[in-house]
Amino acid sequence: MKNTLPRLIKQLGVVAAVILAITIGNDYLPPQHNPLRPINLNDPIGVATGFKLARIKADTDLCYELLDKAQVGYTPLAPDAGTDRCPLERALVLEQTNYPYSVAPLRMSCHQTAALYIWEHDVITPLAEEILGSPVEEVLTYGTFSCRNIAGTNRLSEHGRANAIDIRGFRLEDGRIIDVRKHWRDDGQRGEFLTAARDGACKLFSVVLGPDYNAAHADHFHFDMGGGTICR
Ligand SMILES: [Zn+2]
Repeated sequence: MKNTLPRLIKQLGVVAAVILAITIGNDYLPPQHNPLRPINLNDPIGVATGFKLARIKADTDLCYELLDKAQVGYTPLAPDAGTDRCPLERALVLEQTNYPYSVAPLRMSCHQTAALYIWEHDVITPLAEEILGSPVEEVLTYGTFSCRNIAGTNRLSEHGRANAIDIRGFRLEDGRIIDVRKHWRDDGQRGEFLTAARDGACKLFSVVLGPDYNAAHADHFHFDMGGGTICR
């Protein structure tokens, strides 16, 4: 009992120090590292970005506000656009983002779209410049929404929730094609670019699967914002 008071004082000191650190940090931390600041989709990726993306997953109104602020073009899907099995709750059709995609329509959840937007401008744009020396002209995809199970299981895929995208490669402005199937293990720039594109996606999406994961992903990256955590 006699140690209770000193221990309480010590604990209060720790709490006060944490509150002080957060208060000071709130003013001085760059927004991408500060979990107290609201996310801006044009901020660079920081230590708090994943936390903030998880927050907008739970707040669809905020998510749509952020897409509007970033001038992402989309059409909201009608509430009854899906089916009983794949209800497409408050999903959208993507119309305009940093890059055109090879498949339309791309139906996606709002928070999946937000993560994709950040990946485009903060991962793909700088990597294409630094590693390949040419901007990306088009992102090559197999699509997003598909009301189906995960291959070989009876569990609904995140594609069935419009919460996933499959990326098979990139077409560059200089005409080159970067192909996940052909170039994943390439020793040169294309392989380096693909590895960095995958690694950057892991900072944003909860599940990132590619050729290293299994044979079903030998020719594409799968990114989703479901409940899992995989980067491979
Ligand atoms: Zn997929």
